[in-house]
Amino acid sequence: MTDVETEVLVIGSGAGGAVTAAKLARAGRDVTVVEEGPWIDPDEMVPFSLEEMAAKYRHRPSVALGNPVIAYTEGRCVGGSTEINSGLYHRLPPELAAEWAARYEIDEFTPATLDRYATEIEHEIAVTRLPGAPPPSSAVLERGATKLGWRAVEFERVFTYDEAGRSTKQTMARTLVPRAVEKGARVLPDCRVERLIRREGRVAGARCRQHTPEGARKLVIYADHVFVCAGAIQTPALLQRSGIRAGIGSGLKLHPTIKIAARFPQPIDHGDVPMHRVTEFAPNLTIGGSITRRGHAALALAESGVEPANALENWEQVGVYYAAIRSDAAGAVVALPGLRAPLVTYRLTEGDMSRLARGLVHLGEVLLAAGATELYPSVTGGVVVRRPEELVAWWDATARRSSNLMTVHMTSTVRIGEDRSRAGADSFGRIWGYDNLRVNDASLVPDAPGVNPQAAIMAIAARNVARFLAG
Ligand SMILES: Cc1cc2nc3c(=O)[nH]c(=O)nc-3n(C[C@H](O)[C@H](O)[C@H](O)COP(=O)(O)OP(=O)(O)OC[C@H]3O[C@@H](n4cnc5c(N)ncnc54)[C@H](O)[C@@H]3O)c2cc1C
Repeated sequence: MTDVETEVLVIGSGAGGAVTAAKLARAGRDVTVVEEGPWIDPDEMVPFSLEEMAAKYRHRPSVALGNPVIAYTEGRCVGGSTEINSGLYHRLPPELAAEWAARYEIDEFTPATLDRYATEIEHEIAVTRLPGAPPPSSAVLERGATKLGWRAVEFERVFTYDEAGRSTKQTMARTLVPRAVEKGARVLPDCRVERLIRREGRVAGARCRQHTPEGARKLVIYADHVFVCAGAIQTPALLQRSGIRAGIGSGLKLHPTIKIAARFPQPIDHGDVPMHRVTEFAPNLTIGGSITRRGHAALALAESGVEPANALENWEQVGVYYAAIRSDAAGAVVALPGLRAPLVTYRLTEGDMSRLARGLVHLGEVLLAAGATELYPSVTGGVVVRRPEELVAWWDATARRSSNLMTVHMTSTVRIGEDRSRAGADSFGRIWGYDNLRVNDASLVPDAPGVNPQAAIMAIAARNVARFLAG
């Protein structure tokens, strides 16, 4: 057993952990980051390739149990989910910040405060729009929305562009993790924190298992302060495994998402994630597009129940699009003794199912208006639609037994706020009852933001570190 000592231990190196480590290291703190996944050079793998999925995803399909189940994905590597995400960037809508501050009694959570930290983050990582015309897969959404008279916008992204217009995603492994290291932070990849060491209202450090070329070894890290940034699923699981349960893990929020594989008369490019969003019904319903490689098209087609081999013919003409909702439901994350992965549950309400059906129909309308010739919904046995008047069949088809749903946005499992009966952490992420234990990741976002969450997570994390540094 090896021992390490550090002033601040940061567990997880994704959107929340990288901000935390970089800001603390820059302030001269002695920082150690432990990351369960591997440290992979951001240039080593083709973005969205199978190789990247195998290396950087937390493996095995994960599902939130409920009726229907909801498949979810998480990153597991240095940089966390920012390494595998689409890089779409949207600040937290100010009306939600104001509503949450009041509802959950969160101090210093005004839109102006969050905007100040968002600006700081945006200077650190490039946040830009496309330098030229959108790719055809994205233009589809803009064209369809314009024909229907609906609002659509191009979202900003955390990308840089070279003179030839080639884009590079500014993930945490490319930006804030190296900056933390430059300022003296140590990063221990392949090192999973199994549990925290508790002592009289404080946390003394963490027990870890590190994989090295020589084999697995146990590691104990002693720390004056601990920030848990393992993501909205793994953070509550780790706290519960460590015996910390009050207000931890309940209140999980997701953006349940339903998809369509749309066939067009001509190939649409598959190089990039569509950056347009139809925001006519936002924030409660958002329409967008996903990366489409052959495998994604096959999966999306299979989810409609058709024979994928036939439907995959000319797959270059197929693009995958989605409708995501803010749901009334809430879920839970529960660490079970002896099991490595937590149990995750999420029960959609009747209202949620109805919103998903509406989302699917609106998504179908946009795609047909944009010139799609065949629509395959992610509803098993759902009718393949070719004309707008056929969309009505999807209202009834979007049932619990037949809907194939997914999400990549999980939040709210350690909600912040001053009401201890409803919040797991205080307004700045300090776990109630512990002086030196903080959470600083997606878990803290008090509710589903209705937009891509990375911007909100990073701004909240920067705000919390500033508070910590102020003493
Ligand atoms: C496929 C996909 C696409 C997405 N697209 C977008 C998008 O376009 N825009 C957007 O805003 N958001 C997007 N998101 C969501 C966004 O990436 C996440 O919300 C965000 O990264 C969460 O930040 P986090 O710090 O909470 O967790 P993560 O970024 O997931 O980082 C958590 C890290 O902690 C590590 N960890 C977990 N447990 C332990 C442990 N016990 N010990 C040590 N380390 C541990 C994990 O391995 C992981 O690396 C997407 C997500 C996915 C999966």
